[in-house]
This record gives sequence, structure tokens and C-alpha cells, in this order.
Amino acid sequence: MTIGRIVVYVLAAMLAGVTIGLLRSWPSDVRLQNEVAQPPVPVIETRISVRSSPPASSPPSSSSGSPSPTTAPPLALTGPAEPRPGPELPPGEPVRAFGRGGGRSPARPPGRPRPRRDLLVEVEQGAVLPQAHQPFAAAVDQALADPRGWTASGTVAFRRVDVAEPDVRIRLTATETARATCGFELPYDTSCYVGGVVYVSAPRWFRGAESFAGDLAGYRRYVINHEIGHFLGHRHEACPADGAPAPVMMQQTFSVSNDRLAEVTAGTPQGLSVPRDGSTCVPNPWPHPEVSR
Ligand SMILES: [Zn+2]
Repeated sequence: MTIGRIVVYVLAAMLAGVTIGLLRSWPSDVRLQNEVAQPPVPVIETRISVRSSPPASSPPSSSSGSPSPTTAPPLALTGPAEPRPGPELPPGEPVRAFGRGGGRSPARPPGRPRPRRDLLVEVEQGAVLPQAHQPFAAAVDQALADPRGWTASGTVAFRRVDVAEPDVRIRLTATETARATCGFELPYDTSCYVGGVVYVSAPRWFRGAESFAGDLAGYRRYVINHEIGHFLGHRHEACPADGAPAPVMMQQTFSVSNDRLAEVTAGTPQGLSVPRDGSTCVPNPWPHPEVSR
């Protein structure tokens, strides 16, 4: 036998050793995936030890490593197995295996305001020309949908519906209807909220108020938001500081000046004692004017 042949035999023997090592490591992976040939507990132990094992260059601790030395793959060939999340149910709370069928909705938390209010937009028959109907509804929609409106609080939302029993009606009404409903002790046309209905005075809708200085669109937004504010339970407010935005619950139809408002309402209180402090606000149609558009 020549030296060349000896070298060939040695190389062949080494190659056979490597192949056997690979074949020994292969079945252990198959068992990990199928969980058939091994009970599940050793598999879980293997995974935990892999996650907490030190880097490959460090010697393995006594608690880590494979459960059986006969299936341990040669370190030089495969290294530590990667953690692989599988379909197993994680440990935790005991869970009932059986129910009684059917279902029941969990109760709404107490005290939480109803998030959405259904509103119906109406126009009193004969109160205004037909071509004014749709623009009125559109203005209501825009006033309530604006991010500076009541929805900015996050506790209320509105949906316009066409049903017999909405949460609130917003009705554009003729001059005398509004006067008869809202009162006319103060000889000024006003809108109001009574018994689930916002009565919008048509003369105010089409002519606005002096305090808004010709900004008819702004005044219309104010009227809707002010009266819906009453629907939501808000009361009248005074101007908090000279030059500040007028609170939407201030009676801006009468004035944005506290002194003027106190004078106008002196004989007919409006649920608020307006201080005569010289403060005059800037007209403002929004419940939350601080919110950027
Ligand atoms: Zn009011």
C-alpha cells in the first residue's frame, strides 16, 4: 500500500465521520418540529436553555445543553439552535374548556355619556323658500362636524338621521313660531332649545347679529353650536376676559360685551348674573376655539 492510498483512505474515513455526524443531528430537528418521537417537556427545556445560554465561545453551563448526549449535534457543525416560536399555548390563566353556548353583550360602563347623538334637521313648512332648505342642512352639518365643535371633547358625536324619534331636532322656523316658542319678553328675535328641539329663528338665520359684524356664516355656526350646547346641558356664560374669544354659551346674539349684555337682560334674567366688569369678547362660534383646524 502506497502512501498515496493511505492518504485517500484517511480522507474517506474523515468524510464518513462528518456524514454520520450530520445524520445524527438531523433526526433531533425533526423531533423538535413534530413533537412525536419525544415527549413535549424535554423540548421546552431545550428551548429555554437555548434562550438563556451564553455565547457559543463560552463553555455551556451544567443546566444547558441537549437532554441526551447521544442526540447532541457536534458543536463544530451546527452550533446552538435558534429559538423558534411555535403554535404551543403559552402558560397562564386556567381557561374553561366548555361554555353553555349563545352570547351576551357586556354592560356599558356606568356614567359614560352616550357617544353618538342622532339629530334630525327640519324646516318648518312655509317658513322659508325651498331653495333655503338644503343650505340650512349643510350649514348644520358643517357646524357640528368641525374639529372646533362639541365633538372635540371626545365624549359626543353626531349623526344626521331621518327617523321619527331622534335625540334632537334642529328646526328652521318662521319669525312668529320662534317668538311664540322662545319668548319675546325681550323684544329681540332669538333662537332657543326647548323640549328636544332647537328652534332657529329665520330672521336671525338670514340676517345674523350685530356682534358678528356681517359675518353671517360665523353667526350661523354660533347659533347651531350655542343651541346644541343647551341640548348637551350647558348653561349661559359671560365674557371671561377683555379681548378673549366669547364662550359659545355667551348670548352673543345680544352682545359680546358683558356690560351691554347685563343691561339687555337686566329685566329678564337668562340664568346668569352677567358681571358689569367692562369686558368685551371677540365673537366666536366654536365650543373649542383653541383646537386647530
Ligand atoms: Zn342660550
